[in-house]
Amino acid sequence: MSKPYCCDSTKFLDMTEPTVSRIKFAYFHPTWDAEQSPWTDLLKSAKSVAPQDYSSDMRGRLYCPGCRQPLVRTPEAKAVFSNGRKACFSHFPTSPPIPCELRSTKPEGMLFTTEEEARQAIASNELVVISAFLNEPAVPIVPAGPYDQTPVEDVAGPLSDLPISRHSGQTFRLPSKLSTIEALCRRFDANLYRYFVFPGSKSAVRLIDALRDVRTVVEHTESEALYFGQIMDSFVAGQVARPTHLRMTKLACNGAVKDFYVKVVDRVQAQKGISNDSKGRYVIFWGKIGVNGIGLCAERLAWGEFALLPQKYEDFLPSIRP
Ligand SMILES: [Zn+2]
Repeated sequence: MSKPYCCDSTKFLDMTEPTVSRIKFAYFHPTWDAEQSPWTDLLKSAKSVAPQDYSSDMRGRLYCPGCRQPLVRTPEAKAVFSNGRKACFSHFPTSPPIPCELRSTKPEGMLFTTEEEARQAIASNELVVISAFLNEPAVPIVPAGPYDQTPVEDVAGPLSDLPISRHSGQTFRLPSKLSTIEALCRRFDANLYRYFVFPGSKSAVRLIDALRDVRTVVEHTESEALYFGQIMDSFVAGQVARPTHLRMTKLACNGAVKDFYVKVVDRVQAQKGISNDSKGRYVIFWGKIGVNGIGLCAERLAWGEFALLPQKYEDFLPSIRP
C-alpha cells in the first residue's frame, strides 16, 4: 500500500474539535522504534490506549493508528481541558505538520496504483474485501461459550472486480472473503483503521468511516450499510417466550423517529449474547433500514450480519459528525 496520503487541511482539527476526532486511540509500545521496526510488530504487540487511559510513562511511546507517527495527549497532565472538554490525541507538533488522513474530518477512500499493490495490502491485512456476510456458522457453535471463545472463522469468497484503482475505469480482480460482524468486533481496535470493501460497495474505506450511527437515521433505505446503536431494551414478543419468536431489541434513535428495533428471532439473537439484560450495550449490524409500524427497524438479519460490540471497545465508536 502506498504511504498514507496528505489531506489538504493543515489545522489540528482534533485539537480544536475533539468531538469529531477520528483518532479514537493510540498504539502504546514501550520499545517499538518507528525508524527500525516494522509496522506489523506494533500491530501485533502494542496496546490500544484511549485518551482517558493515558499515563505519563507512555510519553513518547504513542503512535497514530493512521500515519504511524508519534502522538501526544492534549492536555498532557489532565483527562479534561480547563473548559471541561475531554482530552484527545494529537500529532506531535512539527513544521510542516505530518500529513495524516485522520486529521481530516472528511474521510476519503483508499485507491491503489496496481493490482499487485492491492493484493499485497490484502495479504498484509491492511485491506479486507468482504463479498458477503455468512448466513450460518462456518463451523459448529460451541454451546454456551463465553463471547471471546466463540469460534469466528472467515471463509474464502469469490474473486471480486473492484474499481479501487487510481486510474479511473480500471478494475482489479481481488480475493474476497465471507465474514461476520462478530469477526469485525472481535479485534475492533485493530480493524477500526483498516480499509474494507463491504458487499456491493465499490470503494475501500476505513471501518471507522463506514460505521453509521443509528441516531442519524431518519428514514428507510434501499441499500445495505453498516450501523451501530445502543440497546435501550430487549424482549421476546408474544405471551410465552420461545426461541423461534422474534426478539425485539430497541436501539437509541433519532428524535424524529418514533422507535427503532432490531427484529430477529430470539434463537439467533441469543447466539450473539443479546438478552433481556443487554440494556446499555452496543450492537453493530449490516443491513437495510426497514419500516416497523410508524418507526424503523432492521429485520431478518442473518447470523453473520450482527453482533454485540465488546464493552472495552465502546469508546472507539465514531462520534456523530456535524
Ligand atoms: Zn496520524
